Amino acid sequence: MTQGPPRELPVFDSSLLHLVARLVPVGDREEWGRAWQAELWHMRHPRHKGGRPSRRGIADLAAGLVLDGWWLRVESWRRKFSGTAFLCLSTLFSLNVLSGLGILLLESSWRFGTAPLAADFQDCLVASPLVLLVALMTNSNRHLEQSTRRGLRLSLRFFFFAQVAEVLLLAFLLSASLCLPIHRTFPNISDLLQMLCFVCLALMSLRWAIRDQEQRCKQCLRSLTKPTRIGRPSHNLLEWNGMELMCKNGHGQLSVPEIETSWCQSSEWIDLNVA
Ligand SMILES: [Zn+2]
Repeated sequence: MTQGPPRELPVFDSSLLHLVARLVPVGDREEWGRAWQAELWHMRHPRHKGGRPSRRGIADLAAGLVLDGWWLRVESWRRKFSGTAFLCLSTLFSLNVLSGLGILLLESSWRFGTAPLAADFQDCLVASPLVLLVALMTNSNRHLEQSTRRGLRLSLRFFFFAQVAEVLLLAFLLSASLCLPIHRTFPNISDLLQMLCFVCLALMSLRWAIRDQEQRCKQCLRSLTKPTRIGRPSHNLLEWNGMELMCKNGHGQLSVPEIETSWCQSSEWIDLNVA
């Protein structure tokens, strides 16, 4: 005995499937739709005659469908933006906005006024180039850029300056939010403490920014992945000893020496995408 053609899904199921399919990335949408259509059809048409799906079963499957579609969307965003310069700058920008909102909240409760904030900002603006100079001078791994093209060098520098500006602003906002509440009671101590906090935070965040810059692809500016230890410490003078990192898009490879030697003094970027 042959079975008839499969019956249609109820309106709720087909509407939910259609709606959630918009969340799913285009490349996965067709296969995802077929898989979930089959799941829903089996739930609505059980083998046993008279068997009906329970409300809890319908709700569980609907929740699973939505979560699966959402997970695929989040995963595609993660693959697309993970390690990118855009994500780095956006995260720093969000932290700056949150810190600024924190200062506004503190001001509304402690009433320290905007004058000390502006004075501290001017002091930090003067101190910033010195802090940046110290961070650059104390950085041990200076990267060689001879292999990168002019346009790429410009985008690297733009990203570096944007990152430095954002981390310095974040260091100022965090130091101000820590010290300004005591400004009305101890103005001098508050100013001194704020500058100390700013210098410490700025040095730490600038060292992170410089290290982050070094360990990015010189073409797509993504963070390099797959750190691999190469060589042995006992062979430092005769063989390569250090860490190698790759761009996940295959643009190049960064070799970072463990110890600076006369023939290998700094990190080296090898462009694998040269035509
Ligand atoms: Zn790359």
